[in-house]
Amino acid sequence: MISKKIVGITGGIGCGKTTVTDLFAKLGPNIVDADLVAREVVTLNSAGLNAIHDQYGAEILLQSGELDRAKLREIIFNDTSQKQWLETLLHPLIRTRIINSLHDPESQNDCNYNILSSPLLLETDQQQMCDVIIVIDLDKETQIKRAMVRDKNSREQIEKIIDKQLSSKQRNEKADITINNDGTLAQLNQQVNNIHQQLCARFSI
Ligand code: ATP
Repeated sequence: MISKKIVGITGGIGCGKTTVTDLFAKLGPNIVDADLVAREVVTLNSAGLNAIHDQYGAEILLQSGELDRAKLREIIFNDTSQKQWLETLLHPLIRTRIINSLHDPESQNDCNYNILSSPLLLETDQQQMCDVIIVIDLDKETQIKRAMVRDKNSREQIEKIIDKQLSSKQRNEKADITINNDGTLAQLNQQVNNIHQQLCARFSI
């Protein structure tokens, strides 16, 4: 079996990663969402959660036995060595699971590429798993407004998150392909269709 090419998709908060990958999914590729994988590696009875339990004790669990994410966030926010410990634990687990999901022989399709969607694609070694990198870009004001509506957050909260992320310029410099999401959903759909054709042709050579 020839292994599939991997297309990475990234962008800042509320730029449209989910919207774009939903459109791609209709055209054939499997989508692996790094955010979902990061949750899967700490589900109930997972090796990830067991290690976190060993490190912090029962206090890090909710009554249901699941991870108390808010408490963990608080710990690592206040202690860089604990943040590092957690990253050292979770990074390889996430990486292995992403690679297995991207190349899962059980989830076959006719498409010659699969997609890795990740908000941290360019900040982590996830970019090295990809043959092509797509960055979704949009005007900052539109980004703020869409994220405010979706998350029911204040402008200030969204701006704070944007300021912590890579700038649009930093992301675009690493892009092989840029999707502009300033326009309508119909325009976005058109771009996705064009890029899909382009990728299929490129990877069939
Ligand atoms: P995050 O990483 O922050 O979860 P995201 O990159 O996955 O966000 P989406 O959730 O896909 O972004 O999009 C953010 C919001 O903007 C959603 O409410 C979505 O419906 C809306 N949106 C995306 N693209 C468009 C568009 N072209 N026109 C109008 N609304 C859009």
